Amino acid sequence: MAHAIKFHPGMALLEQFAEGSLTADVALAVAAHIDLCPHCQQLNQDITNDLACQLAQQNVKKHSNDWTSMIDAIVDQPQLSKAAAIEPATSAATQPVVVNQREFVVPRALQRLAANHSKWLQLGGIATAKLPAGKEHHVSLLYIGKNTEVPQHTHLGLEMTLVLSGKIVDENGEYCAGDLLINSPDDTHTPRTMADEDCLCLSVLSAPLQFKKGLTRLLNPLQQFFY
Ligand SMILES: [Zn+2]
Repeated sequence: MAHAIKFHPGMALLEQFAEGSLTADVALAVAAHIDLCPHCQQLNQDITNDLACQLAQQNVKKHSNDWTSMIDAIVDQPQLSKAAAIEPATSAATQPVVVNQREFVVPRALQRLAANHSKWLQLGGIATAKLPAGKEHHVSLLYIGKNTEVPQHTHLGLEMTLVLSGKIVDENGEYCAGDLLINSPDDTHTPRTMADEDCLCLSVLSAPLQFKKGLTRLLNPLQQFFY
């Protein structure tokens, strides 16, 4: 990837991801980011290795009189993480996501779900397709055509947006493929695409967006569209 990814999940999320304590849908966004981000791949590997070492030490203490268990504990854990590390980064059969006559290859962590997305719903230059993912959040692919603005909104809950292709800008910055935006109820923003490039994102929402401007009767359907 030519550009450097600037927006990462952060250590707390990466640790929870490695421990397996995130909900499936938040874990999906983190896993897809890790697929795209060599920096977080390394961090995830380090955290996983640390966890494996801690686990092995606990097992050694617990079974200090049992030589077989002790040897198993020492031998097993590093091998497990080694096996995870040599898993290929991309699978052979990748099915692109097709929207607006464009094809997008999505990260490995998303491929199975993306292949089963629901019908695209289109509104102006924006299209969404739900993914059959976790129950606690609304998970969808979000396509934003060239030169298109998502109306200004705030968040009733957590909004995670992983840019898969193209670029988005909002009041706070510029986000390219691999960048993970995390917005909370305190954040208000107006994301938009560039004049010459469309954008595909993964969107994970814990509650509907709340639109700030315009007529309520126009914005209500919009709220349903995004959620
Ligand atoms: Zn990262």
